[in-house]
Amino acid sequence: MNTQPLILPERRAICALGDELISQIAAGEVVERPASVVRELLDNALDAGASQITVRLTAGGVRQIVVEDDGMGILPGELALALQRHATSKIASLAELERVSSLGFRGEALAAIHSIAECALVSRAAGQEHAYRLDASSGEVRLAARGQGTTVEVNELFFSTPARRKFLKTDATELAHCMEAVRRQALARPQVGFSLWADGKLVEQWRRCEAPMHGAAALEQRLADVLGSDFVEHSLALDYRANAAQRQADGTPQIHIWGRVGVPELARARADLQFAYVNGRFVRDKVLAHAARSAFDDVLHGQRQPVYALFVELDPARLDVNVHPTKIEVRFRDSSAVHQALRNAVQDTLAESRAGNAPATPVAGSPMVVSERSSTGAAWWPQNRLDFAARSDHCLSDVAALWQAQPITDGAAPPGAAVSADEPLGQALAQLAGIYILAENAQGLIVVDMHAAHERIVYERLKTQFAGSGAGPARLPSQPLLLPLTFAASASEIACAQTQTDALALLGLDISAFSAHTLAVRAVPSALARGDIVGLARAVLAELSEHATSSVIELAHNDLLSTMACHGAVRANRQLTLMEMNALLRQMEATERADQCNHGRPTWHSISVKELDGWFMRGR
Ligand code: ADP
Ligand code: MG
Repeated sequence: MNTQPLILPERRAICALGDELISQIAAGEVVERPASVVRELLDNALDAGASQITVRLTAGGVRQIVVEDDGMGILPGELALALQRHATSKIASLAELERVSSLGFRGEALAAIHSIAECALVSRAAGQEHAYRLDASSGEVRLAARGQGTTVEVNELFFSTPARRKFLKTDATELAHCMEAVRRQALARPQVGFSLWADGKLVEQWRRCEAPMHGAAALEQRLADVLGSDFVEHSLALDYRANAAQRQADGTPQIHIWGRVGVPELARARADLQFAYVNGRFVRDKVLAHAARSAFDDVLHGQRQPVYALFVELDPARLDVNVHPTKIEVRFRDSSAVHQALRNAVQDTLAESRAGNAPATPVAGSPMVVSERSSTGAAWWPQNRLDFAARSDHCLSDVAALWQAQPITDGAAPPGAAVSADEPLGQALAQLAGIYILAENAQGLIVVDMHAAHERIVYERLKTQFAGSGAGPARLPSQPLLLPLTFAASASEIACAQTQTDALALLGLDISAFSAHTLAVRAVPSALARGDIVGLARAVLAELSEHATSSVIELAHNDLLSTMACHGAVRANRQLTLMEMNALLRQMEATERADQCNHGRPTWHSISVKELDGWFMRGR
């Protein structure tokens, strides 16, 4: 019940807000952080037909953002107008709004940015002899020097609205968001060159794809530059036009979908490598995301997220882009047709590759994927779903010699040895299908899911170690790696590693930047030292950044240790010796809650001799 006394607010007169306050309020919708500014300025440069764009950031863009382009420029007489609200060169009527093909059209971005930061515009329009600089705060325009194009300078973001400045994260995190904004635009425009500077250092440079390279080939080059050659090697090209029945009068298909989708092995814990574009505009759209994920339903388990760069092109009249202030959301007039087209496009592509048109290179050793199947040289992609290696959560990794370090002598006995009464899970007989251990006890046959069982054992060990001796949580015992293990990482993974060193240390992990695109793992929890280390590092970074506000202790109490255990447990298809199998059975007996894996599935089953007798109608 609400016990607060009811206080009637004093009535105040209604009055129109001043222009500056209106702009500042409106700016809240457009500019959330430096990355939003970067995005708007890139939109403008692209709309101006730029072929080369340079982005310079200082302190993650909080101190300064500069975007330079070689586009058509702004006439000196229009410089001041560009900063006004609702002033745009891109549309002039409702009819134009309904068919808009430029990225901008609201005439709001520069005005919004101007209201919350100190800005300057320098521009030399095509055909003009001089460049002019407009200082936005003083309104002064003077001659300047530069070639054709525009430079927008944005200084001290949120200087006038300190409350909003407080919501910004560390410079490294803001930089990661800015880089992501550049990445999104760059993928859609291979014909435009991009350079990105941070605090005076060149951090990214993507050359423009010159004609005649275009379409799929240009995208391939840009994807390789931006996301790495692994993405291209382990993804499938897609080019799909919605069926002929839906063709428009002029013969062009209504929906054209093209791009690349990663093979299922590239799937990630987070949806951070999903790039979807509608008519060249990066969007976050539930219809598209759902359609793409559902195409993977048969081949991806649980929450795994596919990776892709997909471009949907359709008649602009069948699309409403004016539904979100930053235009990151769109509305389709015909969303079920779009959903179906995208789902079919992705499903067909995956199915074709299964039929044998897989990329030639195996995924082995790639920093993005480590797959046991591929390292054996066998088909890298499950041929059909009965294939055991394709099963489920067995995310397959090279864990050769996983158990050698563990005591394997205790409990080991030759097959057929007398079954001891204090060994309820009995003696191992054999391994079945690379997944199950068959054992014999006094009652009959025991079948153990080796990954599930080992995962539980590792999880319980992590929990005990983390709980420490009672005086608060302990650091997980950590083991340095002889050679650091490096892997290609996204900007946000790198930012997370840099900001969460303490949390990582508590978890027994040492992960630090190795280069602008690479992280190095230097130490891992000893309980997981022989597991899938890169998978472990990625999963932990994903959880830490997703739950940035929770403490490690909270996370550990929830799913984090369980996720970690999954990466340390033995995978399917690893051949175990009888001694190793027996060692596992003995560890299970010694582990609390060993009957169930961390996800609540049983780890073992028994079939009594009596049941077996029943099957064969013995003793009737
Ligand atoms: P919008 O992009 O929605 O039109 P903006 O506030 O982003 O609104 O920009 C206002 C206008 O300023 C644009 O319509 C365009 O004419 C001009 N402009 C902004 N940036 C550039 C640029 N980099 N090159 C050329 N013109 C630009
Ligand atoms: Mg704009």
